[in-house]
Amino acid sequence: MKYVIALDVGGTGMKAALVAQDGSVLFEARRPTGREHGPDAVVATILDFAADLAQEGRTRFGAAPLAAGVAVPGTIDEKNGIAVFSANLGWRDLPMRKLLGERLGGIPVALGHDVRSGGLAEGRVGAGQGVERFLFIALGTGIAGAIGIEGTIEAGAHGYGGEIGHVVVRPGGPQCGCGARGCLETLASASAVSRAWAGASGDPEADAAACASAVDAGDPRALAVWQDAVDALADGIVLAQSLLDPSTVIVGGGLAEAGDTLFTPLRAAVTERLTFQMPPKVVPAMLKDTAASLGAGLLAWDLLSMEVTA
Ligand SMILES: [Zn+2]
Repeated sequence: MKYVIALDVGGTGMKAALVAQDGSVLFEARRPTGREHGPDAVVATILDFAADLAQEGRTRFGAAPLAAGVAVPGTIDEKNGIAVFSANLGWRDLPMRKLLGERLGGIPVALGHDVRSGGLAEGRVGAGQGVERFLFIALGTGIAGAIGIEGTIEAGAHGYGGEIGHVVVRPGGPQCGCGARGCLETLASASAVSRAWAGASGDPEADAAACASAVDAGDPRALAVWQDAVDALADGIVLAQSLLDPSTVIVGGGLAEAGDTLFTPLRAAVTERLTFQMPPKVVPAMLKDTAASLGAGLLAWDLLSMEVTA
């Protein structure tokens, strides 16, 4: 059985899989990232996990993995295989591809960005299957995105392509972690909705999921908070529509778990704003929290097919 190692490194946990060439998952495992022990310990944990996965593969399938793919957060230099910066994990200019390659006996290693890897998986085997051009938006603690074009993800010239979370939709609005004001993620991320609903409901513990439930129950304060987020998101999507003209917008992340409570008003708000642009299909992501790990596996297989053609 031919397989690759796929690894998604998150702020708190790592998700891994052994992935077959058709994208099917042969084995899955999870392990804490352990970022409380510092960046060096995190790197050691990643390398150990990868080595254990290779061993698992040898035991199960009697052969070594052909390649490995790893998806990490933050700024990535995909070409040189360097994890440039992660505020969450504390590393700078980490030669991840080289380190993993050495630990895994010299097999090829692909390094990818977590959200772009997730977008790649959604495009190939998830909600974007058969869609030539899509925009993937992940509504979580922040908002990130990926631009899908004919089975690949457009990373941009410097690896910042698809950062729809930092499109300014409310000039002079709330301060964003990036330094600007009124970025989409300050208004429509799961964290932004949680903050707004905690303020409006007077319950400091209230979160975005509680807001969605209150919307379903017809609470007018929740409806106002929710609509503000939906309007901001629709403004961001329409901007992207004008620039990129995707046929489909795939929305994932924690906030998308609200289902129709989000998608029904969001589709209406997008349609309402379009003038000449063709309306995109706005659909929920399919792969949930395994998207980035699966995408890392696809990157590893892509690497192998490039080597064959080269
Ligand atoms: Zn920003």
